[in-house]
Parts: sequence; C-alpha cells; structure tokens
Amino acid sequence: MTTKQGWIQRAATLKPSSGLYIDGAFRSARDGQTFPTVSPRDGTVTAHIAAAGETDVDDAVTAAHRAYEAGAWSRTDRRYRQDVLVRLSELILENVEELALLESTDTGHPISDALGVDVPSCARTFRWYAEALDKVYDDVAPTPRNALAIISREPLGVIGAVVPWNYPLIISAWKVAPALAAGNSVVLKPSEQTSLSALRLAELATEAGVPAGVFNVIPGLGHVAGAALGRHPLVDKITFTGSPEVGRYFQLYASESNGKQVALELGGKSPQVVLHDVGDIKACASAVAWGIFYNAGQTCHGGSRLLVDERVHDELLAEVIKVGRSLKLGDPLDPETQIGTIIDDTQLQSILGYYKVAEAEGITVASGGTQVRPDGVEGGYYLEPTVLDGVDNAGRIGQEEIFGPVLAVSTFRGAAEGIRLANESKYGLAASIWTQDITTAHTAARELRAGTVWVNTFDVADIITPFGGFKESGFGRDRSLHALDAYSALKTTWIHLGDAPLGDD
Ligand code: NAD
Repeated sequence: MTTKQGWIQRAATLKPSSGLYIDGAFRSARDGQTFPTVSPRDGTVTAHIAAAGETDVDDAVTAAHRAYEAGAWSRTDRRYRQDVLVRLSELILENVEELALLESTDTGHPISDALGVDVPSCARTFRWYAEALDKVYDDVAPTPRNALAIISREPLGVIGAVVPWNYPLIISAWKVAPALAAGNSVVLKPSEQTSLSALRLAELATEAGVPAGVFNVIPGLGHVAGAALGRHPLVDKITFTGSPEVGRYFQLYASESNGKQVALELGGKSPQVVLHDVGDIKACASAVAWGIFYNAGQTCHGGSRLLVDERVHDELLAEVIKVGRSLKLGDPLDPETQIGTIIDDTQLQSILGYYKVAEAEGITVASGGTQVRPDGVEGGYYLEPTVLDGVDNAGRIGQEEIFGPVLAVSTFRGAAEGIRLANESKYGLAASIWTQDITTAHTAARELRAGTVWVNTFDVADIITPFGGFKESGFGRDRSLHALDAYSALKTTWIHLGDAPLGDD
C-alpha cells in the first residue's frame, strides 16, 4: 500500500491534462484564457486549465452534434456501445491510482475514499449501463388486431451535463454513462474547482473506442461556459447537479433558447428523524455522524438535521459526539485520513459565517466549531466536525444548506411532531426514520416528502436505485434504468395491418 509520503511524492510530480477536450483531442481555448485550479489540501495551484469561452462551447456542441448526426455512435448496434463502455469501465479501474490522486488533490477527498469509493463507483456506473443495454426491451402497444404500434427508445441528441465540485467522478458518471449508453453525444462542463478527473475520463473514453466528438469536456467558468452550454440551440437536454440558485438559471436558459429539456439535482437539508424507540443507539449514532461528516459535510443529501425525540436526545447526542471526535481529520493524502478538506476558502468562510448565525440564534455548540490544521500540512481548508444543539428547525440553521461538517440538532416529542419538523423545509432530497415499530416506520416513510427515505439506516445507495429530489431539491432522477429512459426519446411507430386475410402467394 502506498504511504502518505508516497502519495505526496506522486502528487508533486502529477502533470494533469489541462486543455479543452473537443472532438477527441485536447486544445487551448481560442482566446487563450486559463484559470487556476487550487488544491484544497494545501491551497497551492495544481494546474492552469483552459477556460472555455462561448466560441469553444460552440465548437464542442457542434462537434457533438456532428458526431450524433454522422451516427458512428448514435446509430450503432447496442452491443457495440456495450463493448466500448465495458472497456471504458475496465480502463477506469486500470488507472485507479492516477484517477484517485487527481480526485483527492482536486477535491480534498481522503485518498482512501477516492481509491475505494469514487473511482470504483465511477467504473461500476459505466459497466452497469453498458450491461443494461441488451436487457432493456422496447414495447408493443395493445392495439386492435388490424394495427401494430411499437414504442421504441431513441437517443435525444446532444446532452449538456453540468456538475458540481463535491463528487466529480461519481456525479459525472451518473450523467455521462446513461447518456452515452442511450446513444447520445455529450458535452460535460465540470466545476471550475474540480476539472481534472473529467479530463482524464475523456481521454480514457477515446482510448476505449468512443468516437471523436461523442464525448467532450469543456472546463470553464460557470457564468461563461455553463451559460453558453445552457443557451446553445443544438443542445437537446441539460442535466445539472449543483446549487438551487444556478439550477434555476438553466430553466431560464432553456426557455430563452430552444426549450430544451432540463433535469435538476439540487441541494438538500436532509433530516434524520430518531424516535424514542430507536433501538440500537450506537448504530444510529454512527449513521448520524457519518451521514453528516463524510466528505466534510459537502454532500447534497448529507443528514444535516438531526431531529430527535427528547426522551433519547442526551444519550444519542453523547454517542454522536463521541463518533464525530473519533473520526480522523487530516491530510487527504494520508491513507489513515477519514475526513478531508473543505473545498475552498470561500466555502470555509461561508460555513464559519453560519457559526455567527448560530451564536445570534442562541444555539449551543455541543462539539467542534473550530478551524484546525492537521500536522505537517501548510495551508488548506480544514474544519472540525461540529454539532449545534438546541436548533429551532424554522430558523436559518435549521433551514439553510450549510454544506459543511455541521449537524443541526432539534428535539420533538412523538412521531407526528418529528415528521412535521422533517417536512418543514423547502428541500426534499433524502430523509431517514429510526424506530423499532414496523407500522410507524412504513407510515413515516410514506409521509416523509423526500426522493429517498431510509429506515434504520442512512446513505445506503447504489446505481440500481434512482436518486433525486422532491420540492426545491429538483426534479429528474440520476441512476437506475429510469436515468437511461431520461436520456431517450420515446418513438411510436404505428403500422397499419388491415383486416384482409393472408393471400396465397
Ligand atoms: P454550483 O451551482 O455553484 O455549480 C454547479 C455547476 O454550475 C458548476 O459546474 C458551475 O461552474 C456551474 N455554474 C455556476 N454558475 C453558473 C451559471 N451562472 N450558469 C451556468 N452554469 C453555472 O454548485 P457547487 O457549489 O459546485 O456545488 C454545491 C451545490 O451542489 C450544493 O447546493 C449541493 O447541494 C448541490 N449538489 C446537489 C446534488 C444532488 O444530487 N442533488 C449533488 C451534489 C451537489
């Protein structure tokens, strides 16, 4: 196993690709613009990346459209696409260490998570959609005998995918894999903070056999490259994951351009509702702590609200704090590290700003609450797991997405009040209910307004199930066969057979 020093040495010699990947090759932006990408591990610049301008975005979309029309991907046999995407999945795993290092230095994810979760999950997503391709059938409608109506799925055309910085490989794969599997061309706009792994993914896709122009990656600033992609008339669908504010821009871009389809995966303020008959308090505490502190709380469905029955509040909170304090916060390149960095100084300051809000709201800091510096690291953005107790669910700490390692704790008495508080939010991405009563569990799961509900667990996920939000957490679903459908257009072919009997010749 590579040691911390080994990873640090490899990171120092890393030479990531930093161009725009358009039509199967890297190139600079037409106007030569670049932007620096900074590693949150130590605040140093890892690379200067080409910044796509409007003309570059047009080049990428035109290449994608041309490739789509030419049919070297869109009109091929499904089994051909299957073979290529399986090969891509294999290549991702063959390059696991390089991809993990890019992801860890770019996002601040612990290297062990990048190696064990981010890269394998990305590879599995490509394999899963590839393997699905010869198992999904089209439909035949129940027409009268004199007709035959076939309902088939066809690719939509050019898909624009715009993704955030928190899980670049995983979220890109959730969009790119089903879109390519369905036969579309894709233009991916990674976050300006974390473009490196997407650029490597594009190279690997070409190596696997994805034809030039079918998969393009255009790093760039959101309001320039993201907006140009959103407004482009040759883009047939935008699939976006990110903040609620930016998500709404894409609805605007669509309505002001060609009325393209838009799917939005937005933020969350997910509640973990713990009833008095929770049962195994330690298991619950572990799930609550990991549910918010994993990836330093920068997870859209992170369990940022703990709503706990007052009868078990003290016992549960003591255990949650114990687990939180036991997690090893440190240098992302240390294989022992469990919690890495905050993405950048802006995000760090935003989280620290919420500590002032908490103070003004009279909320108790039950644990954490300070900025820290792991041994041997200069610079970088690190924050202790923090527990805020006595939170008014209706206040800012209870309602706003902090996107950091901050757990907001509120109490209630009885299941009805717990569920009412859980639903008292503009978000509806995920929720959990903890109880030993099976009827209460089922009823609560029905009442919770969220795209995913966990019962006596949290953050169990797989490519086999859909993921997305209710309410202002967005619409559309990533993952599962539902996502394959989301990148396909349904076509009805109605064939007149008539009533005449078969002839003799
Ligand atoms: P963000 O909205 O700032 O950026 C997301 C993407 O949009 C980036 O690629 C960015 O460059 C681009 N962008 C920014 N401004 C733009 C504009 N004016 N026009 C077009 N594109 C623009 O989000 P972020 O800060 O990268 O990520 C954090 C947010 O993402 C959080 O709110 C989090 O909850 C959300 N998120 C949601 C999910 C989910 O599945 N629901 C998953 C992960 C993250």
